[in-house]
Amino acid sequence: MNHYRLRGTTVVSFSGGRTSAYMLFMVLLHNTAEDIARYLLIIFANTGKEHPITLEFVRECAERWNVPIIWLEFRDDDTGFSVVDYATASRQGEPFEALIRKRKYLPNPVTRFCTIDLKIRIIHKYLRSLGLSTEDAPVDMMTGIRADEPRRVAKIRHRKSTSESKWATMVMPLADAGVGVQEVTDFWAGQPFDLMLPNINGRTLEGNCDLCFLKGAKQVYSIIASDRPKAEWWARMESSVVSGGKSTGNGDRFRSDRPSYQQMLDYSDTQFDMFADHEEAIACFCGD
Ligand code: SF4
Repeated sequence: MNHYRLRGTTVVSFSGGRTSAYMLFMVLLHNTAEDIARYLLIIFANTGKEHPITLEFVRECAERWNVPIIWLEFRDDDTGFSVVDYATASRQGEPFEALIRKRKYLPNPVTRFCTIDLKIRIIHKYLRSLGLSTEDAPVDMMTGIRADEPRRVAKIRHRKSTSESKWATMVMPLADAGVGVQEVTDFWAGQPFDLMLPNINGRTLEGNCDLCFLKGAKQVYSIIASDRPKAEWWARMESSVVSGGKSTGNGDRFRSDRPSYQQMLDYSDTQFDMFADHEEAIACFCGD
């Protein structure tokens, strides 16, 4: 069975990671040029805090595989998004910062509005601007979740559709085809190019937003220890919002159960081990 077959207008939500790039390759391999031209849209949503190497990888996939990849960014205006490209993409966290300014509080592990507003929502807005993701023009939304990520698979299968995603059907061809991390790793071992970020047991710890609060604490701290300037943006965001925000946490911290980014920065000159236990990263839509 061809799990990658395009059944109609299909959006490949490309995270800029190895897994979603593998999925894109398989889609290109298993469909005719005619169907690809007719049905396929590949979208990468840039938060502005992606690793520069991720941006290079997205560009390289488009060039080497000769397919257009649409780059979107959040904007706090009537349109809600902007189409950019490799040259014009934000690299200083500007879309993310604009969202925080709009919301006036910070996302946290429970209220992950960043992944929703910076990625999912702008993709739907863009699609609607093309007359897609509507009752008359529903779409399939392909996301690169693997068979060895059962919790993420179950979450997406059971997710209720919102008014935004009502006319988009989530499709997970990798999960359906039984593809796990080993297949993805083997695939990239045989390619003439790769995402040039370390691959640790099939996971790209430095992928997505550089110091995402869903990453394990030790991982965040070790990135700060090796590259202090990365933390400055996160510390600035924490100091930029007024405390007493909404939901969990105080709204002025990305994690209320951890030291602030400024504290981690302050400690990063020392050998002090702030996090004794290994803490797993929390998976989200932003994915690999
Ligand atoms: S990678 Fe983390 S910080 Fe960035 S949008 Fe996703 S959940 Fe938010």
